[in-house]
Amino acid sequence: MVAVDTEHFRTLLLEERARVERALGHLHDENQGDITESEEEETFDNHLGDSAAVTYDREMDYSLEENSGHVLAAIDEALTRIDGGTFGTCARCGKPIAEERLEAMPYATKCIDCKRLEERA
Ligand SMILES: [Zn+2]
Repeated sequence: MVAVDTEHFRTLLLEERARVERALGHLHDENQGDITESEEEETFDNHLGDSAAVTYDREMDYSLEENSGHVLAAIDEALTRIDGGTFGTCARCGKPIAEERLEAMPYATKCIDCKRLEERA
């Protein structure tokens, strides 16, 4: 008996993985370009008269990069679960995770009930 269409979610996960990797690659490119672009950015800052906003964007980028790393790991784990046949099963209570939840977050490891319990704790 197949509870969920794992091939469908495998595709979703691979697409999401590619998207996150592109985002990470973009961030890395930007960071590497700091030295050559600094002159241009200074002009940009002065023009705006608000360098704080630019700094803020930078920090946002770093946290995005961090989160993307976590998401990539979660996606890989989900792909492993597909291969292992445990995909779509809650890691805490063992019940099936709602498909609509998996559609929104294919790398979810817990059902919504357990997730809520966890967030409350
Ligand atoms: Zn659960």
